[in-house]
Amino acid sequence: MTTWTDRTAERPITLTGDGGIDRSAHHRLDEAWLAAAWSHPTTRVFVVSGGQALVEDTADGRTELVTMGTFDAPITESHRYFLGTGDDGVRYFALQKDSLPGRMDEAARPAGLREAGALLSERDSELLVHAVALENWQRLHRFCSRCGERTVIAAAGHIRRCPACGAEHYPRTDPAVIMLVTDDEDRALLGRQVHWPEGRFSTLAGFVEPGESIERAVVREVAEEAGVAVGDVEYVGSQPWPFPSSLMLGFMARATSPEVRVDGEEIEEARWFSRDELGAAIESGEVLPLSGISIAARLVELWYGKPLPRPR
Ligand SMILES: [Zn+2]
Repeated sequence: MTTWTDRTAERPITLTGDGGIDRSAHHRLDEAWLAAAWSHPTTRVFVVSGGQALVEDTADGRTELVTMGTFDAPITESHRYFLGTGDDGVRYFALQKDSLPGRMDEAARPAGLREAGALLSERDSELLVHAVALENWQRLHRFCSRCGERTVIAAAGHIRRCPACGAEHYPRTDPAVIMLVTDDEDRALLGRQVHWPEGRFSTLAGFVEPGESIERAVVREVAEEAGVAVGDVEYVGSQPWPFPSSLMLGFMARATSPEVRVDGEEIEEARWFSRDELGAAIESGEVLPLSGISIAARLVELWYGKPLPRPR
């Protein structure tokens, strides 16, 4: 039997952080190794700032992360993150700075994951998603959660240490479930959040609570937001979503009854769509196209069975 996970081979989830980089975590505490890796002539580095890096479009239509040799890298007043080793042996670092460097050439432009995530190669998107996730965590965890003292960066960006109480703080990732619910007629349930613009519909989603399994979180969130009971919860795939620190865990779930009763607080409206209804609603502009890089769009597309139409 073909599982939903199998089907993602044809319609891959973007930003999966699966671009062939060996994170080489065992080297992060080895300052001599890091210094040698940094000064190696093949090592590449890019600047990350506010979730953005420089990218450029190549003559053959691809989009690449703009990297430089460490000799050219603007190291003053920056934090250095070691990101890992490519399958060709090249080591990659990111420098976190308050601003991006000036464009090195005409083609270079600043971009974040939302704009460039689906355009970059798997390797470049893995490097950028890692760097952005570290940057967001570093920015929000400058003080010790045990004693309140200012913490310092360590382990090439992967630890923050407290000089006062000795605590070590590790990057946190917040699990969130995101699910496409279908019914007996194979219609899909899409909801509209209260603060979303008219016509924007997407899958339901929510954070996993303390002491909760991810499968139970799916059942609870669908019940809370749409008043729908679900069974047959099937895992599809995951997507790092460092805005600022989520890991989206994608599921398909089957409703045990079709009645919808939205909570009105988070979700204003939830509707069942057949494939024909959703296709027609997107083409007519009644429903806005789902955003490109998110796993929500991919879950809907997996159910839809082909790329979603564009508005006419
Ligand atoms: Zn402390």
